[in-house]
Amino acid sequence: FPSHSLQAKMSRPLQARRLEGIDKNIWVEFAKLAATYSKVNLGQGFPDFPAPDFLTEAMTRALGGGNHMMHQYTRPFGHLPLVKVLAQFFEKLLGRDVDPMTNVMVTVGAYEALFCCFQAFVEEGDEVIVIEPFFDCYEAMVKMAGGTPVFVPLRPNPPKDGKLMSSADWQLDPVELASKFSKRTKAIVLNSPNNPLGKVFSRGELELIAELCVKHDVLCISDEVYEWLVYDGKQHIRMASLQGMWDRTVTIGSAGKTFSATGCKVGWVVGPDRLLQHLRTVHQNSVYVCATITQEAVAQGFQRELTLYGKPESYFVQLPKELQQKRDQLVQSLDAVGMKPIIPEGTYFLVADISQFKSDVPDDPNSDEPYDYRFAKWMVKNKGLAAIPLSNFYSEAHKKNCSNFIRFCFAKEEATLKAASDILQKWKQEKTS
Ligand code: PMP
Repeated sequence: FPSHSLQAKMSRPLQARRLEGIDKNIWVEFAKLAATYSKVNLGQGFPDFPAPDFLTEAMTRALGGGNHMMHQYTRPFGHLPLVKVLAQFFEKLLGRDVDPMTNVMVTVGAYEALFCCFQAFVEEGDEVIVIEPFFDCYEAMVKMAGGTPVFVPLRPNPPKDGKLMSSADWQLDPVELASKFSKRTKAIVLNSPNNPLGKVFSRGELELIAELCVKHDVLCISDEVYEWLVYDGKQHIRMASLQGMWDRTVTIGSAGKTFSATGCKVGWVVGPDRLLQHLRTVHQNSVYVCATITQEAVAQGFQRELTLYGKPESYFVQLPKELQQKRDQLVQSLDAVGMKPIIPEGTYFLVADISQFKSDVPDDPNSDEPYDYRFAKWMVKNKGLAAIPLSNFYSEAHKKNCSNFIRFCFAKEEATLKAASDILQKWKQEKTS
């Protein structure tokens, strides 16, 4: 061998430049902290209760039902039974024709759907408007595609009469929102119901966004994974159903959230062929095809829900009722100890104000970490309760302005929520005694 080939260690830079600034991610660190210290984990967003029997039974049938083709590749852009039933469902929800072959694409969870959108639509130098607080991968995905995220915050309006705040009290300033649109804006990301706040955007708010999209010829990437998790009789309004928006909207969904089975990793995009054709290019050359068995099971789940649509036995009717009770249970436990919850209108998350608990974890002006990071770490290590700092859902520049909140997931068994309540009660007693 020539001598240079013996020098095994590579010395050239390895990380692609587009990963700069997005290589740090708190999920790994917080998952490890939760695994090491937590007695009760209300941090990461997944249910600890079982998925519905009809889904697990469909999964078992798909796996062992004698159709050996379930173990082979299926149609790359979506298993036929699944795209067909999704199209039927969305025809109902959007009040328009939806073609299973051209208006629906199945992905590996909503994550892949998002990734396909940013890769397909965002050019170097394009701007993408992201509403803060936001599901944190949006920023990374825009950057990986070469785009620039432009952030616009939901601003809290504290209720006057001393009532608890609702996620509806967090609103966009219309003038500020309009100021973010320019010739460089390619898309806006909308997430309603929103993770982490649980905000369900009203028709008026959606119309404001829609108007700006049409005026500036901008796409809307509408992440609606929590579409069925809406409380207090509120209605989830789909951006694609608004006048003029079908043509410029891709709607993203997730079987993981829909059927309380986040491990199944089946997602979808619904939208006009003109847009979906580009997503198909990304999907075809990255993932190619999603697992057949899970697609088959999810198709059967949707088939059941189509038959029971709007009826009391429907899972889409039952699940939000159950989750609303869980939400109320956690709201009550937090309120009782003075960790003021912001009541979410949807999703399985709620955000709580930790200001009254600051004496336990003093401010440190020299720390690089936002206060809520330090608080959440202290809480899991010392109290055994895991939650996620809200500033994780803000851009770097705005993290420090919102560091008095933490996010809890309430999609948990009764016993888990009771255990969280016991920790909070004991903590409160220690503080007052
Ligand atoms: N969008 C939002 C807003 C989410 O909260 C999540 C999951 N936490 C996803 C997309 C990804 O969903 P999936 O598990 O189907 O990939």
